[in-house]
Amino acid sequence: MKYLIQFITGLFLTTGLYAQKPKPVAAASREVSRPKLVVGIVVDQMRYDYFYRFYDKYTEGGIKRFMNQGFTARNNHYHYALTITAAGHASIYTGSAPAIHGIIGNDWYDPIQGHGVYCVEDTTAKVVGSPTESVGKMSPRNLLVTTIADQLKLATNFRSKSIGVSIKDRGAILPAGHTADAAYWYDSKTGNFVTSTFYRDELPAWVKEYNDKKLPAQYAREGWKTLLPIDQYTESSRDDTPWEGLFTGETASTFPHDLSGTSGNPYGAVTTSPWGNTLLKDLAIAAVKNENLGKGPFTDFLAVSFSSPDAVGHMYGPNSIEIEDVYLRMDRDFAEMFTFLDSWVGKDNYTVFISADHGVADAAGYWKEHKLPGGLVPSAKLRDDLKKALKAAFGEGEFVRSMTNGQFYLDHALMKEKGISQDQIHAVIKEALITDPAIADVINLKKLNEEQLTPYQLELYKNLVNVKRSGDIMMVPRPGWVSWGARGSNHGTPYNNDTHVPFALFGWGVKPGETLRRTTIADIAPTISALLHMLPPNGSIGSPVIEALK
Ligand SMILES: [Zn+2]
Repeated sequence: MKYLIQFITGLFLTTGLYAQKPKPVAAASREVSRPKLVVGIVVDQMRYDYFYRFYDKYTEGGIKRFMNQGFTARNNHYHYALTITAAGHASIYTGSAPAIHGIIGNDWYDPIQGHGVYCVEDTTAKVVGSPTESVGKMSPRNLLVTTIADQLKLATNFRSKSIGVSIKDRGAILPAGHTADAAYWYDSKTGNFVTSTFYRDELPAWVKEYNDKKLPAQYAREGWKTLLPIDQYTESSRDDTPWEGLFTGETASTFPHDLSGTSGNPYGAVTTSPWGNTLLKDLAIAAVKNENLGKGPFTDFLAVSFSSPDAVGHMYGPNSIEIEDVYLRMDRDFAEMFTFLDSWVGKDNYTVFISADHGVADAAGYWKEHKLPGGLVPSAKLRDDLKKALKAAFGEGEFVRSMTNGQFYLDHALMKEKGISQDQIHAVIKEALITDPAIADVINLKKLNEEQLTPYQLELYKNLVNVKRSGDIMMVPRPGWVSWGARGSNHGTPYNNDTHVPFALFGWGVKPGETLRRTTIADIAPTISALLHMLPPNGSIGSPVIEALK
């Protein structure tokens, strides 16, 4: 009976609607609802636990703003096996995976051309803003799909503006995508921010003015002292450890650090300090002001990638006072940036999201001191073992054309000539390397379904392997084993320390809260695309984190 009444009521309503003249729809309700500005932040090498390890020392307006006023996906992971900068930036902004977007590492080997490739290299592009020619031969041409910044441009008939900034070229170029108005990155020879002719033929006046301030020289002279009295860094190990790196001219890895370097390059050194973040924060604010981002009728996009935490993490390892100091100072830089955006576009008119391109392993020496399992991967010894085994099995010949990202690119022409199959060569390489305690497995990337992988591992490798760009065979270190020297640490593995990174957002359209549901990096771009009512990037494989959206 209840349903019948509903049905009849519905029928009358429908009839009523048809009977009425259509009411004019108010102009305002026809507009697609979008924020004025989206700011994407990538913190290079920010592991998930940094949100909480330094929480008590963060300010209210910085990183805590994501956690206390926004939405945090607390169980967010990389979904492929090689956790490296370029692949991470590409995956965040495309919602895709290296198998599809093609950015399988910072570098790879091109088997057809027979040479190495840098992720954002472009020999047709020229530097703009510096005499250093090599820093400008860059563009996003190796990225095979669109980013969310591209999709925003497409969605607004190219009436949105988008800009990418970073210390690293790949951190600025890959997020901003193919249709960016500009991308700016740092030339560590001159201390200037530069771009390439892919984007424009001259630096805009505001970038020239910024460069003319010579801030890197000023920061190099100031050096690096701790923000707080050093005894307050209770979340980190002691300052003087044998597993921390040294700047040129230093004899101990202790504060204060002299960045002017007795013989080193001070413009490079400032980026291995908190000053790199400050430089970038100021450039980002200058970009918003001078390009009038967030002031037009269409949503604008700014992609900011903070590279210095990665440089400091590699040099000192994640448990150093140096890393804690970088995060405490970056938090203050964030607070300044958000306060500026509040006044520039209005507190509720913009959306910010944050993630990281990979995490990091603890330094091998630190783990050894605490009796945790692991060590340093003996790369040179493994290469020797490999060569000897191949020679013993197949005789003379360079069977491996390149070893990049732990992957072996085989010489298939030579193998054919000698009648050797990939299965045979895989068996020999595996036997030679698997006995080393650092090695977990040696995988035939061309026959993943035949490998002894769990369904979880299989997915990580399937998402990684790009048929035209990946190697043939890959060696995988055991958990806790670091491919690096005795000082500092590294990332790149398929383990939690490298895969588990933040994804959080706040501002326009964001429903405050958190989830412990497992999400992946591929979900970030679809989430932002849903927020912006637009198509996700064309290679996207993720799903929106719907809990985060109003
Ligand atoms: Zn990185």
